Amino acid sequence: MTSPSQFGYSRVGRYVQQLDAGIGWLRFDDDIEREYALQVDRDQRRPAMISGVFSLAFMILFAISDCARLSLVERFPDLTVDMWGILASRLVTILVLLGCLYICYRQQMASRVAPLSVVAVLTLAACGAVAVCLYKRNGLGHAEFAQLLFVMGAFAPLGLRFRHSIVLAAGVVAMTFALRYWLLPMDMHGQQFNAMLLLMLIFSAVGGYLRERAYREQFLLRGILKEQASRDPLTGLANRRDLDEQLEMIRLQARREKVSVGLLLLDIDFFKRYNDRYGHQAGDLALRRVAACLDAFARRPLDMACRMGGEEFALVLYDCGGASLKDRADELCAEVRALRIEHAKSDICAFVTISIGGVLFLPQETAWAALDRADQLLYEAKREGRNRTSVERLSPTAAVA
Ligand code: GH3
Ligand code: MG
Ligand code: MG
Repeated sequence: MTSPSQFGYSRVGRYVQQLDAGIGWLRFDDDIEREYALQVDRDQRRPAMISGVFSLAFMILFAISDCARLSLVERFPDLTVDMWGILASRLVTILVLLGCLYICYRQQMASRVAPLSVVAVLTLAACGAVAVCLYKRNGLGHAEFAQLLFVMGAFAPLGLRFRHSIVLAAGVVAMTFALRYWLLPMDMHGQQFNAMLLLMLIFSAVGGYLRERAYREQFLLRGILKEQASRDPLTGLANRRDLDEQLEMIRLQARREKVSVGLLLLDIDFFKRYNDRYGHQAGDLALRRVAACLDAFARRPLDMACRMGGEEFALVLYDCGGASLKDRADELCAEVRALRIEHAKSDICAFVTISIGGVLFLPQETAWAALDRADQLLYEAKREGRNRTSVERLSPTAAVA
C-alpha cells in the first residue's frame, strides 16, 4: 500500500520517526529538540520556583537556627571567623536564591530556568558544605549527609537536561570534596562520607536518566496525538480543524508584517465519475497524488495545504500579492493536469483536473467569511466549465495589511 510519505510529505510523522529512531541518547533532531526545550522550560518553571521558595524558607530557618546555636546576641563581638563564615554563607545563599526567584518570576518568556537552577543548586551546595565543615572543625553538631540531597537535587525537575544535571551533580561532588579538603584537617575528611557522595551521584544519575527518557517519550507521544488530530489520515495534509486554528495565526502574522494572504479553494472535477469508473481505491490514490502536488506547491514556511473533506482542498499562500494570486492559481491548475492521472469519464479533459476559487483576505475579515467568498468563486469556476480558476478581481487595498 502506498503511504503518504512516499509522496514526500516532509511534515508528516516526524514524532513517529523520532520515536522509531530511538531516544536512548536523550537527544532529538534539532527541530523537535527546540520544541522540547520550550516545553521543558514551560513545564519545569513552576516546580523549579516551588523548589526555590522551599529552599529559601529552609535557608532562612537555618540562618535563624545558626543565630540561636551560636548565641549570636550574647557573643556578638567575640564571634570567631568561622562563625562569621557560617552566617555569611547563609546570607549569600539567601540573596542568591532571592535573585534567582526574582529573575525567574519576571522573565516568563525567556529560557532561564536551567541556568538559574544551576546557580541555585551550586550555591546551596556550597553553603551546605561550608556550614558543615565549619561546625565540624569547631566540634559542634552537624548534618554532614544533608550534602547528599544536593547531588539528588541536580536531577530534580528544574528545567535541566540530563547531561547538564550530570555535570551539575559532578560539580557539587567536586566542590564538596574541595571545600572539605580546604576547610577540614586530614583526619576529619571521612572516607565513608566521600564514598556515599559518589554512590549517590551514580544512583541519582541512573534515576535521572530514566526520568528524562520517560519524559521525552511522553513528549513524543503527545506530539503524535496532536499531529494525528490535526492531519488528514488519507493524504497527510492538514485537516479542516488545523486550518481553522492556523488561519488566525497566519492572518495576525500577515497583519504585523503588512503582507497579504491568498486563499484558494480547489475541487476535483467529476470525481464521482472517477470513482465509479476506476473504483474507490484508485480514487484514494488520485486524492493522494493531488494532495502531494498541493503540498509541494505550498512550499514556503507559512503556506499551508489542507484537505477540507472529500475531494475539496484549500491552499493558503502567504505574502501573495493580488497580481500573482491568479497566476499561482493557474499554475496549480496546470500542475494537477500535468500529473496526467487518466480520467476517461471527464467531459473536459483526458486527465484529472481541478477548479479553483481564489480570494485575498480582507482587513479584519474572519477566516469563515474569506472561505465563503472563495467557495462562491469556486462554484463560478465550475459553472463556467471546470478545469479553470476564478480569482477575485483585486483592488490594491484588498490585502490584510
Ligand atoms: P464536480 O465536478 O461538480 O465537483 O463533480 P464531482 O463528481 O467531483 O462532485 P460530487 O460532489 O458529486 O462528488 C464528489 C465525490 O468525491 C463523491 C465521492 O465518491 C468522492 N469522494 C469523497 N471523498 C472521497 C474519498 O475519501 N475517497 C474517494 N475515493 N472518493 C471520495
Ligand atoms: Mg468535485
Ligand atoms: Mg466537491
